[in-house]
Amino acid sequence: MDTYDVIVIGAGAVGENAAAIPAQHGLRVAIVESHLVGGECSYWACIPSKTLLNPGRILQFARSNPATRSLLDRELDPAEVFRRRDEMTSNWDDSSQEDWLSDNGIELIRGHGRLAGERLVTVTGGDGRTTPYRADRAVIVATGSEPNPPGIEGLEDIDTWTSRELTSASHVPRRLAIVGGGAVGVEMAQAWAWLGSEVTLVHNSSHLLPSEEPFVGEELARALEGSGVRVITDAETRRVRRSGDEAIIEMDIDGTTERITADEVAVATGRRPRTKDLGVETVGLSPGDPLDVDDHMRVEGIDGWLYAVGDVNGRALLTHVGKYQARIAGAHASGVTGARIHAASAIPRVIFTNPEAAAIGSTEQQAIEAGLDVDVVTHDIGAIAAAGTLGEGYSGTAKLVIDRREGVVVGATFVGPQVAELLHSATIAIVGRMPLSQLWHAVPAFPTFSEVWLRLLENYRDGGWDPYAA
Ligand SMILES: Cc1cc2nc3c(=O)[nH]c(=O)nc-3n(C[C@H](O)[C@H](O)[C@H](O)COP(=O)(O)OP(=O)(O)OC[C@H]3O[C@@H](n4cnc5c(N)ncnc54)[C@H](O)[C@@H]3O)c2cc1C
Repeated sequence: MDTYDVIVIGAGAVGENAAAIPAQHGLRVAIVESHLVGGECSYWACIPSKTLLNPGRILQFARSNPATRSLLDRELDPAEVFRRRDEMTSNWDDSSQEDWLSDNGIELIRGHGRLAGERLVTVTGGDGRTTPYRADRAVIVATGSEPNPPGIEGLEDIDTWTSRELTSASHVPRRLAIVGGGAVGVEMAQAWAWLGSEVTLVHNSSHLLPSEEPFVGEELARALEGSGVRVITDAETRRVRRSGDEAIIEMDIDGTTERITADEVAVATGRRPRTKDLGVETVGLSPGDPLDVDDHMRVEGIDGWLYAVGDVNGRALLTHVGKYQARIAGAHASGVTGARIHAASAIPRVIFTNPEAAAIGSTEQQAIEAGLDVDVVTHDIGAIAAAGTLGEGYSGTAKLVIDRREGVVVGATFVGPQVAELLHSATIAIVGRMPLSQLWHAVPAFPTFSEVWLRLLENYRDGGWDPYAA
C-alpha cells in the first residue's frame, strides 16, 4: 500500500494550503481531488463573483466623479465581463494549480477520496478502480461545502441556479429571481443587475445579511434598489414551479400570497459540509454532519490523527478563515505542537458590492449577549475628506463596539465604497487587543479613508472618554 506522512482530501484553496506546510517541513504529502484543483473559490465562488462585480463597481466610481462621468457614454458589455471572468477562472482548467502542487512537492491523486478506518484513505479514480493509501502521521479533510437546498415545494422538480450558475453562466436572463439575502445573494443580485437582468431578491427576514449590524442590511438594500434590484424582505418562499419558459415563485408576505415570475431562479440560502460520501462512518462519525474540531483543527472524538479545515468543519465558510485553519493544521500535523487558533482571533467578513460592507468581531447585540459592558461609536464616512476626493454623493457608516471595561475594540463594521481595505486595521486592533489609549496615537494619513478611525475615537472622546488618562 502506498504510504505518505500526510494525506489531504480535497484540493480547494484550503486543502492546498494545508498540504503545503507539511511539504515545507520535508514530509511526504499527497492530496486527493475529485474535480478541479483550486476548488470552489477559484472557479465558482470568490474569484468569478468578484470579477463579475468589479466592472459595475468601477463604472459606478467613475460615474460618481464629474470629471470622469462625461467620459462614459456606454453601458457594460456582458460579453466583455464574461471574457474577463473566464480568464480569471482559467476557463475552468486547473493545470496551473496542478503545476503549483508539483512545484511545492505535493503529489496529486485524482479521484474521490474516502476515509477507510484509522489513517486509511481509499481513492476511487475515473476508471472506477479503488486504491488504498496509508497516512503515517495525519489525514487532513478539506472537502468544503455544497449548496443546502431549502424545503421549498417544487424546488426539486425544476432546474434552478445555484452559486455555480450565478458565477459561471454566460447568458444574461431577462428576469432573475434570487432566493436568499446572505452574502452570495446580495453580491450576485447586484452583479446580474449591472449585467442587465431584472433582478428580484427574496429574503425571509427583515434585514439582508441578518447576522451583521442592522445598518448593513439597510444600506445595502438601498444600494441594491439603486442598482435596479427589487428587494423583497420578510418573505417566506413557499412554492416554485415552471409554466412554459417562466418560473413562478410563490411566497408569503404578512400572511398574503404574492407571486413573482422570472426566467431563472437562483437559490442561495446556505451551504452544508461535504461529509456525506466521505467514509466518516468508518471512524465513528456521522455522514452529513460538520467535522467538529479543537483549536489545533483536530477532529473531536478521534485520536489525534484526523484534522478538518475550511468549510467542512462549519466554523466560518470563508476562504481566508479556512486558509488560517490550514496553516494551523498543517503546522500541527508537522509536529509544531504550539500551532493553535489564537484566543483573540476574529473573523473578517467583506461583502464586495458597491457600497462594500466590511466587518469583524462582534456586533453590538452579540457583544451585549456575550455579557460585555459595551459602548458604541459611529461616524458618517461621507464626511471624511477622502470621500470627496473620490467623487460626489459618497454615503457610508462606520461603527465600533468597545469593551468599556477592557478599553479595547471588540467589533467594527464599515459600509461604503472602498471600505474593505479599512478592515485589516480593525483586525489588527482586535486581534492585538490594542488599548484605545494606544490606538489614539496611531495617526491616519491624510486624506485616506483610515481617517475614520480618528473621527470615531474623537467621537468617543467627546462622549466622555479621556485618551490621555493614565
Ligand atoms: C458565490 C460565492 C462567493 C464567495 N466569495 C467569497 C469571498 O469573496 N471570499 C471568501 O473568503 N469566501 C468566499 N466564499 C466562500 C469560499 O468559496 C469558501 O469558503 C471556500 O471555497 C472553502 O474552501 P475549501 O477549500 O474549504 O472548500 P472548496 O473550495 O469547496 O474545496 C473543496 C475541494 O474538495 C474536493 N472534494 C470534495 N470531496 C472530495 C472527495 N471526497 N475526494 C476528493 N476531493 C473532494 C472538491 O472537488 C473541491 O475541489 C464564496 C462562496 C460562494 C459560494
